[in-house]
This record gives sequence, structure tokens and C-alpha cells, in this order.
Amino acid sequence: MKQFAQCPKCRNANAQQLSFTWWGGVIGPKLFTHVKCQTCGAKYNGKTGKNNTTNIIIYFAIVGIIVFVLSFVFMMIMYL
Ligand SMILES: [Zn+2]
Repeated sequence: MKQFAQCPKCRNANAQQLSFTWWGGVIGPKLFTHVKCQTCGAKYNGKTGKNNTTNIIIYFAIVGIIVFVLSFVFMMIMYL
């Protein structure tokens, strides 16, 4: 089993890597080592032991922009 950083809430190192999240699909949680504490259920960065919220917001914003740009390009191609 892979060893992760301590949980920022309860200080346990008993965490499990998440394979899928609503905000990042299958890539996001792997990208940020998003783990879930098996003791208290907190989700955090298993590499740094810190909260992943900032990373998630940045990731979500970037994905949102990409989707927006792609749909815009798609519409341009469709209606030109
Ligand atoms: Zn915990």
C-alpha cells in the first residue's frame, strides 16, 4: 500500500487514493494526489498533507475555460 502524508484534520496517515471525483473525473485526483482519510473522511493532498481546495478551483477553472473555448470553436465551425 502507498504511504500518504498525514491527514490535516486528525493526523492519521491512513488514507486512500481516490480514483474518481466529480470535479476532476479520473485525471484530477491523480494529478493532485487527492486522497481520502479512512479515519475521519477528510479529503486532502496526499503528497503535501494540505487541503486541495485551491488546486481543485484552479483545475476546475482551467477545464471550464477549455470546455468553453472548445464549444465556441465548435459553434463557429457549425455556423460558418
Ligand atoms: Zn483524518
